[in-house]
Amino acid sequence: MSAITADQTNVFPRLLDLAYPSIERGEGVRLYTTDGFEVLDACSGGAMVACLGYGNEEIVEAARRQSEQISYMYFHHFTNELQERLARRLTDEVIPEMARVRFVSGGSEANEMALRLIRQYHVDRGEPQRTRIVTQAQAYHGALFGALSLTGRQSLQSPYEPYLTAHGHIPPSTRRFDPSGQAALDELDRLIAEGGADSIAAFFCEPVSAAALPAYCPPAAFWEGLAERRERHGFLVCFDEVVTGMGRTGSWFAGQALPIEPDVVTGGKGLGAGYFPLAATFCTQAVYDAIAGGSREFEHGHTWDGAPLSCATGLAVLDFMQAHGLVERVRERGPALRDELEAAVGGFDIVREVRGAGFLLGVELVDPRDGESLLPDELDAAALVDDVAFEHGLLVTSTHSNADGYTGDQTLLAPAFVSTDEELGEMVERFAATIADVDARLKEALA
Ligand code: PLP
Repeated sequence: MSAITADQTNVFPRLLDLAYPSIERGEGVRLYTTDGFEVLDACSGGAMVACLGYGNEEIVEAARRQSEQISYMYFHHFTNELQERLARRLTDEVIPEMARVRFVSGGSEANEMALRLIRQYHVDRGEPQRTRIVTQAQAYHGALFGALSLTGRQSLQSPYEPYLTAHGHIPPSTRRFDPSGQAALDELDRLIAEGGADSIAAFFCEPVSAAALPAYCPPAAFWEGLAERRERHGFLVCFDEVVTGMGRTGSWFAGQALPIEPDVVTGGKGLGAGYFPLAATFCTQAVYDAIAGGSREFEHGHTWDGAPLSCATGLAVLDFMQAHGLVERVRERGPALRDELEAAVGGFDIVREVRGAGFLLGVELVDPRDGESLLPDELDAAALVDDVAFEHGLLVTSTHSNADGYTGDQTLLAPAFVSTDEELGEMVERFAATIADVDARLKEALA
């Protein structure tokens, strides 16, 4: 398979020492390189986006028709029927806990919009001193500076710290550190006490983690403790559902399965399903009312917000998901998929845990010598898994975040919701072959 290196392109690549295969087309859940190599996609395009697979004619047709009529006008001057309809349908049928939505183009933008909304809410209620945000340390909220400030991972924040806001970060309540969730609540209490309860603007988190800690969700006791503290101290809770929104974990939004209702929610990837950039920031009626009864302005936006083409695509995605019962499919099929993955790879010495939430799955790798410690950093097992998977014609996404101390190497699988049972079986099979190879290679390297 051919691949393009940094010295063969005018593109500024992400990693200058990596050669990038060039994808020419996609069909269903398969990608094809320009030289005809087939890759089975177990990660919805690699970034958990293409949840309906590739080449969906109904969505392509809806986008084509809308482009003929009108693809773009500026949200600053106009609204349009597509934006109105998508907003109504999402808040009626998908996330009825939320009353209002602002459409943007990407997940980082949605989180930045949420930050603005949180700030505006407190200012309009006469509490401008509420500036601090607390987040989970092991998370990913985006690449823009506001979103990166929320992402409490030193490995990602460096060397941009001078541009970032210092928020508080609590440790994840994983099996390894805090199975009960109490240590996380204690740290939250410490951060609240540190600046005073009325300095906290919001708690911001992924209700079910994606790339940073795939398919991890804190225990119920943590959510109950968070809800009680919100009530007592008056901050907001914001869920980043850029990955988990739109069915990924088996409910429309992952937070709907938790014993707490957020005040602000962001969504992204699955909203446009890879057919057009589309993301959104939602809020409850109470958050909206604070601004409606205050400054009556939420004057912030981007060029493509609420454009007819992005919203028409979002409506077609929603239609398709509802018509084909895809959220129900993910909810019903997800647990068995996790079990099949566990049966296929759980026996290898390098695999410690297989987690699953719908079609979001995580495989934690450990040192095979004791079956528990994180793998030595320099082995970069995550990159090895992705490379070997590719050799087996499989796309998965692994992360390597030992530097943060909370997790080691992990692999994320996030198949498209339209994957058939045969395709899911093939993904599990190719992943098991990948892990068998990686297990052998790592043992050799460690010997
Ligand atoms: N939030 C989460 C949970 C994400 O996983 C991502 C991207 O992977 C983002 C936010 C940022 O989204 P985007 O890359 O579209 O800006």
